[in-house]
Amino acid sequence: MKKINILDPKVANMIAAGEVVERPASVVKELIENSIDAAAQAITIEIKNGGITYIRVSDNGNGIDKDDAAIAFERHATSKIQFAEDLDHIETLGFRGEALASIGAVSQVELITKTSYSDEGIHVVVKAGKLLKQEDIGCPQGTTIIVKNLFYNTPARMKFLKKDSTEAGYISDIVNKMILGHPEISFRYINNGKEIIFTPGDNNLMSCVYSLFGKDYVKSMIPLDHCDGGIEVAGLVGKADIARANRGLQSFFINGRYIKSKILTYAVEEAYKNILLVNRFPVVILHLNINPAFIDVNVHPTKMEVKFSDEKQVYQAVYWAVKNALYAQKHIPEVTIPKKNIFEYVPAANEKSNIYIKEDIIQQEIKIPKSTISHNNYQYHSKHDAATDTKTEQSMPAINSDDLYQMKNSTTIETKSVTAVPRSGLQTPSLYDFKIIGQIFNTYIIVQKDEEILLIDQHAAHERLKYEQLLVEHRNHVVCAQTLLIPVVIPLSNIEIEIIKENIEFFKNIGFEVEDFGNNSIVIRQTPVSIEEQELKDLFIEIVELLQHSKKEIITDIESRALYSIACKSAIKANKTMHSKEIERLVSDILRLDNINTCPHGRPIIISMSKHYIEKQFKRII
Ligand code: ADP
Ligand code: MG
Repeated sequence: MKKINILDPKVANMIAAGEVVERPASVVKELIENSIDAAAQAITIEIKNGGITYIRVSDNGNGIDKDDAAIAFERHATSKIQFAEDLDHIETLGFRGEALASIGAVSQVELITKTSYSDEGIHVVVKAGKLLKQEDIGCPQGTTIIVKNLFYNTPARMKFLKKDSTEAGYISDIVNKMILGHPEISFRYINNGKEIIFTPGDNNLMSCVYSLFGKDYVKSMIPLDHCDGGIEVAGLVGKADIARANRGLQSFFINGRYIKSKILTYAVEEAYKNILLVNRFPVVILHLNINPAFIDVNVHPTKMEVKFSDEKQVYQAVYWAVKNALYAQKHIPEVTIPKKNIFEYVPAANEKSNIYIKEDIIQQEIKIPKSTISHNNYQYHSKHDAATDTKTEQSMPAINSDDLYQMKNSTTIETKSVTAVPRSGLQTPSLYDFKIIGQIFNTYIIVQKDEEILLIDQHAAHERLKYEQLLVEHRNHVVCAQTLLIPVVIPLSNIEIEIIKENIEFFKNIGFEVEDFGNNSIVIRQTPVSIEEQELKDLFIEIVELLQHSKKEIITDIESRALYSIACKSAIKANKTMHSKEIERLVSDILRLDNINTCPHGRPIIISMSKHYIEKQFKRII
């Protein structure tokens, strides 16, 4: 064994630097945080070569006292805390006193600073942890720190850096977060001599969004401000049209500090459930104000994580803040067609059901051949004679919304119990509220309502209605189920059968009665209503897969996803002719579902085009 040495402070600092200074972006983050802590109102960040050769951060904050300037580069040198108790109520971004020491240990740093009460400023140069120069200098109030040749004396770290452009990208990310965290500060960001970003510092988060992402984002952000249990949640949440394929545009700030938090991400995504497509992630910028005594920021070396003393309360506050903001919005997206397309469009002679030759389809009764009716997925029958009903238009009973169940004229299926569940909170719509123009492409329904044309996706609409209905039934423990006259046997793998056996109760709750049938197969004796036999196997396997791959999710989530699948499989498909009465029912039901305009998978149900827009396009109005 070699002799044990106490490390030279210089070597110790180089090692410690690794914790704080991983790459140029971490230097930028530390320096900006120092400027924010110094109450700066304007901060300029300039970098060259991805920050590897040059980083400058200048601010107009409080500055550092001349006597303290060199000390700031010592380890554990901080003006922000003094006693252990201070750790319980940290209100600054920094408090460890490590950043300047760490940066100074692995680069050449210049500090120029002046306080308001001093006539002169001071210029300090530190290289590889050594003080090279300290002299008085004339300068404005505030602090400038220039970091040159980062990691020049630690080649091992240098080797891990990526291309300049990649490092510059990491820096932009940090600058963006800082900007979104502090709309009250004016930021200027210069890369290789070019100004990339400027924000006015007018304390308006929208101005930051405009500077960073452009005006399209401004149009699609919804402001929110919500207070719940002493937690204030404010900020902006994006509409579905700007959702992303990853979580890159989600930013959370607690008391001005950018943090990453699974609980906050989860709360937001739960609030967006049913609004976004699967694997789409919302754009959100949320600021939480919480009493510092209820959070612990001292859990992570780069301070990106926090611990909450009451996670549940934080979850609730964020969930409701976002949900309320989203549901207060009108969810029907407007159709905007680029001018060029409208004027250049010439309908083909055989294109009967095109929107531009509306006369052809106005009030047109859709004729459905009898054979189609009896196989139609979206028939209305009185629930008493559903099993044998082959009724056509003439004998169709008065429809009420409880009859939205789809009963098939199949000899293999018998209705066991159908319990009608009132659709709470819905008002009866006035039939004169809208005019149905017709169905096009056997898939979309055109409706005139108020001053708008609505285009409704029949499958998405019906799927949504089915889902809402299933949800109510499920909550009331009265899921409509049908017993199969001839049970269906499905061969499955051992693991799948084990999963099913463990979840018999789960299946029962969503309307399935299943049993182990031996020989690596299970038998389904009862299913949720309206599932065709050929769809049944797919649906069942889909739900088994859901259970298999969602081990960590809470059961109610899996149940509601299973209900999505059932709704999808039982809803009327696209490319199906619909009877006018069916269309009427579907339209009036879907228009009563206020504030919901996505199918359970997040696709839109309705898109609209305003009369105003049409008149503008035809130049009737300017
Ligand atoms: P910490 O931020 O954790 O206190 P740092 O090493 O980042 O530690 O900074 C050390 C000290 O230097 C700070 O506590 C602060 O007093 C001073 N300082 C650093 N940057 C600035 C700045 N831009 N303006 C004013 N004071 C600063
Ligand atoms: Mg600091």
